[in-house]
Amino acid sequence: MGAHTRLNLAVMQAGILELRAEVARVFGIESLRPFQEHAIEASLAGRDLVLVLPTGGGKSLCFQAPALVRPGLTLVVSPLIALMKDQVDGLRQSGVAAAMLTSAQDVSERRAVHEALERRELKLLYAAPERLVLDGFLERLVALGLCAIAVDEAHCISHWGHDFRPEYRQLGTLRARASGIPVQAFTATANERVRRDIVSELGLSDPLVLVAPCDRPNLTYRVQPRRELLNQIRGVLERHRGEAGIVYAISRKEVERLDAELRKSGVKSVAYHAGLDPDVRRRAQEAFAREEVDVVVATVAFGMGIDRTDVRFVLHAALPKGLEQYSQETGRAGRDGLPAECVLFHSGSDFFSWKNLMERSHEEARARGESPDPAALEGSIERLSQVRNFATRMVCRHRQLVEHFGQAWESTASCEACDVCLAEIEPAPDSTILAQKILSAVVRCEQRYGAAHVTDVLRGAATQNITRTGHERLSVYGLLRENSVGEVRGWIDQLVGQDLLRVAGERYPVLVVSPTGGEVLRRTREVTLYALPPERAPKKGTRQSRRTLAPEAGEILPVDERLFERLRELRRTLARERGVPPYIIFNDRTLEQMAAHRPRTSEEFRAIKGVGDKKAAELGPAFLECIAGGDRV
Ligand code: ADP
Repeated sequence: MGAHTRLNLAVMQAGILELRAEVARVFGIESLRPFQEHAIEASLAGRDLVLVLPTGGGKSLCFQAPALVRPGLTLVVSPLIALMKDQVDGLRQSGVAAAMLTSAQDVSERRAVHEALERRELKLLYAAPERLVLDGFLERLVALGLCAIAVDEAHCISHWGHDFRPEYRQLGTLRARASGIPVQAFTATANERVRRDIVSELGLSDPLVLVAPCDRPNLTYRVQPRRELLNQIRGVLERHRGEAGIVYAISRKEVERLDAELRKSGVKSVAYHAGLDPDVRRRAQEAFAREEVDVVVATVAFGMGIDRTDVRFVLHAALPKGLEQYSQETGRAGRDGLPAECVLFHSGSDFFSWKNLMERSHEEARARGESPDPAALEGSIERLSQVRNFATRMVCRHRQLVEHFGQAWESTASCEACDVCLAEIEPAPDSTILAQKILSAVVRCEQRYGAAHVTDVLRGAATQNITRTGHERLSVYGLLRENSVGEVRGWIDQLVGQDLLRVAGERYPVLVVSPTGGEVLRRTREVTLYALPPERAPKKGTRQSRRTLAPEAGEILPVDERLFERLRELRRTLARERGVPPYIIFNDRTLEQMAAHRPRTSEEFRAIKGVGDKKAAELGPAFLECIAGGDRV
């Protein structure tokens, strides 16, 4: 090792020590996560970087922490004003000199930021990509001591990502215009293709590429056939009374119906979809951020820019469009690392509703004289089948998701956080024989009927169709007499999901047996179908999980629920007074620590994880009073 390298290493080690101390002082964060440590070291060494870290992994700290200790300004590029505002508010509450420049600010606000820049007072500046291409803007920042550029939500630069934004493409000029300044890219979701795009579009040179495991162990996944949707939703809400959640529905009409029904049953909910007036939409988003409502019922238009970290459940009222979207949407749960639940209700018809919609919009584009890419349509339908398979296979949900994103699932043990591993769903007895019965009913019906008729035949029903077709004389008639309609339909869905049955038909959907289905009939293939035991109460991802401190805390301490609720109320009041969302005051994890440790002095309060110097001084007295029992709220 040369003297020069040794010196660099020593400087960096000193840098890391100083950084840890700053992070503890400012944010009350005592230890860095392994990926944060690597990313921060690269950043301090002035290296280009791509970091893929799942939601809640703590990406922001990777560019905020180096900015605290490095002389000069760090520029953060972000796609949405809401995202920027949240981070800037949060940093300021912790006493960090941060600001943003956006089109939503008035002239005097913008001037104040420019003045602060000229005085070299700022550590972090947030801006949208559009601003960076403005004449001379970036060059001015370089002259004012710009020392690093962080590109947040970097997947937006790639056509292959799920959220391509053309304005991100303009970031390709950063490298040339700010030469020698390290560029670091951050995202929660990027497969290899997207990562390659990020590197080439941003012109990164020999970047360190870090891809953290994409599993989210604090999320418990459950998938259930949709029966009585409203009752099923109420069942989930029952486990999360007073907690934050998102309900995703496919159509605007369904959003409004569900929202109205939930409000009727006393749930504090609000509707959100792209058809609403922008003002109404903004108010809905704010009401959720400020904890004035608990539940948002929304189409997938709702999501980006939601930084509320205490979302305890995400519920899908129908099959999502693909596993990328599913991960993105469920990713909004449990960002604070505490247990959260993701429930998906689906039915066999969801696949066809989506498929029809996709085909129709493809046709409409053609009718308009455009030339839509048939491969894109095929790709969309393929992604749809993947999510249907996810829902109908009896394989650990965590494992399926991790493998879908190209990572290996090493564990052979139960994940203890999905309906399959928790044995909330069980294999139906004699699954293969059951599958053979259903498949042969399809064959006996000459592969010319849909799921409803096949179900009637198997259950020995006496419908007009059966009398007309004479199907009561088939050997399969009444073979599943003991089972309910829901059960038989559920099994048919599962057979379709495993590609043992297919749905074909020009005018109306009919069931046909696939080649692999033929193997089951010839007894050369085994099948597992699951039976849903009626109304079994889930065991995990429920409110009870708050009774003890999160495992990261390294100890098991009971959390005083009543005190926790009082602290939440106080947090809401303080947030309202300051005009910021409550999670910017403290997150749930920090409140839990308070409710478990019950600090009595300001030293004890400062020692709570998540409490930094500035917040301890400003907010400590009110929280200590609340903990001591004197209610301010
Ligand atoms: P991401 O942007 O990756 O979704 P955030 O940066 O918003 O995640 O961080 C999620 C939460 O984790 C925040 O509440 C943050 O304060 C907390 N956090 C980040 N790093 C750490 C750490 N090393 N220890 C404890 N909490 C952390």
